[in-house]
This record gives sequence, structure tokens and C-alpha cells, in this order.
Amino acid sequence: MNLFKPLETQDTPSASKNESKGSEHVKVLIIGSGPAGYTAAIYAARANLNPVMYEGLQPGGQLTTTTEVDNFPGYPQGITGQEMMEDLKKQAQRFGTDVRFGMATAADLSKQPNRVIIDYEKEILADALIIATGATAKYLGLESEEKYKGQGVSACATCDGFFYKGQDVAVVGGGDTACEEATYLAGICRKVYLIVRKPYLRASKAMQDRVENNRNIEVLFEHVTQEIIGDTSGVNGVLLENGKGEIVKKDITGFFVAIGHQPNSEIFKEYLETDEVGYILTIPGTAKTNIPGVFACGDVQDKHYRQAITAAGSGCMAALDAERYLGTRVF
Ligand code: NDP
Repeated sequence: MNLFKPLETQDTPSASKNESKGSEHVKVLIIGSGPAGYTAAIYAARANLNPVMYEGLQPGGQLTTTTEVDNFPGYPQGITGQEMMEDLKKQAQRFGTDVRFGMATAADLSKQPNRVIIDYEKEILADALIIATGATAKYLGLESEEKYKGQGVSACATCDGFFYKGQDVAVVGGGDTACEEATYLAGICRKVYLIVRKPYLRASKAMQDRVENNRNIEVLFEHVTQEIIGDTSGVNGVLLENGKGEIVKKDITGFFVAIGHQPNSEIFKEYLETDEVGYILTIPGTAKTNIPGVFACGDVQDKHYRQAITAAGSGCMAALDAERYLGTRVF
């Protein structure tokens, strides 16, 4: 399919009232609606840059799949991820952000203005483009894992670990993330099983040492998750196949998947410098990519911190960088 053919499109029922048909030229286009995207929108809107935001497949981003957010400063009683994202959206709209439902399906960043295709048909030309498309946690792909998501199955120990205080949990994965999450959980939970499919950890030596020296963590090498089990109140165990082909059961109430993330950078990768996994590279201390006028913020460019607050901070940086860029250019 030629995604860049001349456009003859109709507005979808969910299109914003400002959205015109076919091709449209905007000053600032923000792709993605997690904490990074909304913070960029708030700053860009307050700077009179009339940002247009496309929310993407999962409006509100990854946070909408977590339950309580207890670690975002300013919410002494905590807040649900869903509520927080609704508040951020309202705040962005209050200053005039044009928030639209739709997904970026192709991009051409080879020349100015940047060109992004929404839902395979609508063309947006943007003087400045802010990419806040996030990353998607990888899951094992088990039916039971899907069933208990948010009821014992999580892909973020920092977000959800606290709810398992004093309980027994499992983390699956053998990389730095899994070791970091297991170590974090070991400080909160009674016991942490680290389920590793190989006979060794892939994590850095320093991370391995932290796991090995932690008495609350038991590493189960050569164990593969077969099924997560539970009832109406959530997860209560996991079935594992060990290296001898035997099925063993561990009683746990939390199952943390830490087998990696996939940054949502696919449509931009042809133009932007990324690392080998696909995380967009930014100039350190800025949100600038290798292309002037294209900025990246949030988890699509951050494999280390991946927190709502760090994403929001980088969204602010992206908007300020975009504002400065637009101020120095004649279009
Ligand atoms: P990695 O890709 O490094 O590790 C993924 C782990 O999950 C591997 O052990 C892999 O096993 C395992 N895995 C993958 N699929 C499955 C599956 N289906 N079933 C069971 N296990 C599976 O991802 P990370 O998120 O750990 O790290 C990503 C990058 O971020 C790395 O470069 C890492 O160094 C970096 N990072 C750095 C941190 C720091 O410096 N503080 C913290 C966190 C991440 P196998 O080994 O068998 O393939």
C-alpha cells in the first residue's frame, strides 16, 4: 500500500472538531499520550504553539494498565493510572491542545516539514514533531497471564510491588531489568523467586552479584513458566517446568514479567538514530534527535528509568526544545 498517496479522507466520528480532512499543516505534532506526551502538550500549548496530539492505540499509555500510582509526586493518597491520565489530558486541553484519537502509521522525516500519516490515510505536516510513543512491555504470551493482568500479573515492580508487601512473588527474566526488579521486590516482599529459562543470568555482573547476595531471592535456573494460577481474588501460584521436565508449583501472589520492552519507534527508525533494540537516541541532556525539529521523550528513548515522572520531565524538555527550535526558524 502506498501510504503517501494523495489523500481523500473523511473525518472519523471521534475526530476532533478542529480536525480537517486530508492534509493538514500544524506547528507542533505530538504522537503519543502517556505522561511524556501530555506534559509536552501542556508546555507547548502554554507557549502558544497550538499542539495537535494523536493519542495512539492506548490512549493514556502504559499507566492506564496499572492500578494505583503511589510514586508520582503530588498525590499523597495515590491515584489510579487511569485517573491521572484523564487529569493530564484535561490539563493539556485546558490550554488548547487539540487531542485526537488516531495512530501514526507511517512517517517521512527526510525533509521539512515532517510528514506523518495517521490511520493509514490522513497526512499531517509538522514544523516540529514530538515523538512520545512509549514502549511496550513484552509478555510471555500465556492465556493465564492475560487473564490475571492487573490482578497479580504486572510488568512493573516499581509501580505495583508495594501491593505485595510481605508476600511471596516471582519475577521472570534473566536480564538487568529482571535482576533490578527482583532486588527491588526483595526489599518489600518476603520471598522473590527469579525464574530464569537459561542456566545463567544475562544481566551485568554487578546486577548478578546483587541478586546472589540477597537472601530473599531464590534463583530458579532452567525453569520455564507453564501457567499462572489463581481464582477470583487474583494470582495464587505458578506452575514451572524445571530442567528435568518436571512440573513444580510455587505459591505466589504476584507475578512480575521482566523479559524486556519494545520501544514503539518502528515507523521512525528509517530516519532516526536508535540503539540496537530501537530506543531513539537523543543528544544527552536534551530531547533532540539526529534530525532538527524532531524530538523524542518518554519511554521510546529511555530504557533505564521508565517512570511516569521521568517521562513527564522529558516531555517538558521536548516541548521547550521544540519551542526554541521554532523560535530560531523561519517557515
Ligand atoms: P534483556 O533483553 O537484556 O533481557 C531479557 C531477559 O528475559 C533475558 O534473560 C531473556 O532470556 C529473558 N526472556 C526473554 N523472553 C523470555 C521468555 N519468553 N521467557 C522467559 N524469559 C525470557 O532485557 P532487559 O529489559 O533486562 O534489559 C534491556 C536493556 O536495558 C539491556 O541493555 C540492559 O542492560 C538495560 N538495563 C539496564 C539497567 C541498568 O543499568 N540499571 C536496568 C535495566 C535494563 P535469555 O537470556 O534466555 O534470552
